[in-house]
Amino acid sequence: MDFDLFVIGGGSAGVRCARISAGHGARVGIAEERFWGGTCVNIGCVPKKLLVQAGEYGGWAEDAAGFGWTIQKGPHDWSKLIAAKDREITRLEGIYRKLLAGAGATVFDGRAVFIDPHTVQVGDRRITAKTIVIATGGLPERPPIPGAELGIVSDDAFYLKTMPRRIAIVGSGYIAVEFAGIFRALGAEVHLIYRQPLPLRGFDHDLREAEVEALRAQGIVLHPGNLPRKVEAAGDRRILTFGGAQGGDAQTIEADLVFFATGRRANTAGLGLERIGVELNAKCAVRVDENLRTTQPHVYAMGDVTDRVNLTPVATAEGHALADTLFGGNPRMVSLWNVPSAVFTSPPIATVGLSEEQASVLGAVDIYLTQFTPMRHNLSGRKRKSMMKLVVDKDSQKVVGVHMLGEDAPEIVQGLAIAVVMGATKADFDRTIGIHPTAAEEFVTLRTRTRTTDLAKAAE
Ligand code: FAD
Repeated sequence: MDFDLFVIGGGSAGVRCARISAGHGARVGIAEERFWGGTCVNIGCVPKKLLVQAGEYGGWAEDAAGFGWTIQKGPHDWSKLIAAKDREITRLEGIYRKLLAGAGATVFDGRAVFIDPHTVQVGDRRITAKTIVIATGGLPERPPIPGAELGIVSDDAFYLKTMPRRIAIVGSGYIAVEFAGIFRALGAEVHLIYRQPLPLRGFDHDLREAEVEALRAQGIVLHPGNLPRKVEAAGDRRILTFGGAQGGDAQTIEADLVFFATGRRANTAGLGLERIGVELNAKCAVRVDENLRTTQPHVYAMGDVTDRVNLTPVATAEGHALADTLFGGNPRMVSLWNVPSAVFTSPPIATVGLSEEQASVLGAVDIYLTQFTPMRHNLSGRKRKSMMKLVVDKDSQKVVGVHMLGEDAPEIVQGLAIAVVMGATKADFDRTIGIHPTAAEEFVTLRTRTRTTDLAKAAE
């Protein structure tokens, strides 16, 4: 065999797995067909956050007037922002490549496909390995409607030549609401068209309602309960027709850009998995057991290609755990329980643990909830609210869910996630002294229970 381990895909999961395995002394090869660092570094978390940060400056310039500053806000230069973002991404991509080479892994630039269970082909080379890891990530999907190819997906949004002035975003998952916030903050008229009554399906109901208020306060036009029907071109412009999810009259929006953020699928097509006995689930994601093993015992899969919790820190944790298990003499698994996550809207959302709806199915929960105008905005005059919520198991008094919409929510909830993972109780939160004056201190001073919810109450 050429290698002890061959990794297909140089994204968050693959790079970590290859690098740590090589560090443990394994002979490692890794193939990447597009860009090192994968989705997160090139067309995901990192450039997205830079665009979010670009938008924030505009709001802060306006807020400053309430604090006595006279700041003339000039026009925003999209091409300057994209050029700066591209420089940073190129720098990061180079670091990823160097990290692998530095660890002693052999790097292949090209697409890898399975020839047989122990052989992959990259370009004109056939490579054999004892163990193979599939870490090929996911891809954005367009809805099956006429003219869907006239719309863009998130991959394209990072390379737009000009900033759209009017944009119709279809979808209401985190990518849809984040880009709605980015384009709105940079001055565009933004329409969000989505099927559900509330955005961010799967998140806590109070958070979703608070998000609606926040999106509206930002000036984003919401079209809930709608499905896209077709896209047509009118010169450079696009006409999106959409209508009620249950049928009914159609509406149209003419926009510079139609953006589909309607979901992602595991990147498994054309890998030759059918040739080697690796089974997929109903959504074409690779089926794995709790040790990340596929239905072919020496082939593993991790990260978005397995479509479980599709987040970078999960992908890297899985890559690291598998490397330690296979080559580091330290067998371990990654728990997908209590994975914290954030939505970088304006203001952002962060959450860890169970929503009120999920928790109340398992037993009665005490809910502590507060909403307030952050101190800064009493002076800035910006219409902005924060919301914080604790979901506490009534019997054990363990805090099983922490949810926040408000400035710095991801920075605050990351710390609280440790407490939740450790099983902290509401009494532990209560005996913790706050840091004053902060928004975060609200989490340790919530004394009045808002309500108790059990399954029967949740069903009302
Ligand atoms: P990827 O990073 O997608 O890497 C897979 C790699 O495999 C790709 O580089 C691909 O080119 C390569 N590849 C595929 N097939 C082959 C082949 N046959 N041969 C060789 N190479 C191949 N997560 C967060 O935690 N926080 C965020 O804020 C966040 N924001 C996001 C924003 C957007 C717009 C998107 C799209 C995603 C975001 N994510 C975020 C999700 C995060 O990017 C993914 O969970 C993460 O990148 C998954 O890592 P991965 O290694 O599984 O896959």
